[in-house]
Amino acid sequence: MKKSPRNISIIIPCFNEEECIDMLYRNLHPVLDKLLFPYELIFVDDGSTDRTLEILLSLSEQNPHVRWLSFSRNFGHQKALKAGLDYAQGDVVITMDADMQHPSSLISTMLTYWADGYDIVDTIRIDNKQCSYFKTITSRFFYRLMDFLSDIAITENGADFRLLDKKVVKVLRDCREEYLFLRGMVSWVGFRRIQIPYQAGIRYAGTTKYSFKKMVLFAVCWIPAFSTGQFL
Ligand code: UDP
Ligand code: MG
Repeated sequence: MKKSPRNISIIIPCFNEEECIDMLYRNLHPVLDKLLFPYELIFVDDGSTDRTLEILLSLSEQNPHVRWLSFSRNFGHQKALKAGLDYAQGDVVITMDADMQHPSSLISTMLTYWADGYDIVDTIRIDNKQCSYFKTITSRFFYRLMDFLSDIAITENGADFRLLDKKVVKVLRDCREEYLFLRGMVSWVGFRRIQIPYQAGIRYAGTTKYSFKKMVLFAVCWIPAFSTGQFL
């Protein structure tokens, strides 16, 4: 018989996602109920200034499976994911965005791969053409540069939509990186990993929380962290 998890944690970082959370919750709830495993939904409020935290409080009062963490200010998506990983109790942990771009229907497929023995089920986005030309070009440039500078394979169109076995979560918890780049770290830690494609949805509401400035700052931090230093 294939293994099944004792419990599942879903981590969702949220920065000013008041318009998306209810819809995501209504979408996820039946998917998780159908799985018949105990689960926890961990929302990480990354210093939102809108009603995000108020909505999370109300959901956690309605449903004991809903938990939340709240940052004192905006620390960024990667730190929000890391806080969720530090807090998660599941045998398997799934990270996904709050804006419905990551289809919850893929969760059962991810679990099937985990049951087949994969420790990391990563995803590769098939574009929904919603990305601006500018974002597509700058992101492609970043990934090509990383590919050139680093020995670690970092897939273009990778996403922070993935399943991690608890033993991988434990290793990531122990990493004390100041500048987190989970896509790189997940590739670096090893373990049995598979990458599966998914059709990215359209952002349900609101606008991207990755400003151009944030993207440049992240690239500036990640490149030294993941380049091999072979030319130094
Ligand atoms: N996010 C976050 N902190 C930030 C920026 C983004 O927690 O500083 C969250 C955001 O709420 C969403 C996820 O990270 O759940 C991905 O952000 P977004 O959808 O805006 O990125 P995009 O899809 O445009 O690259
Ligand atoms: Mg998005």
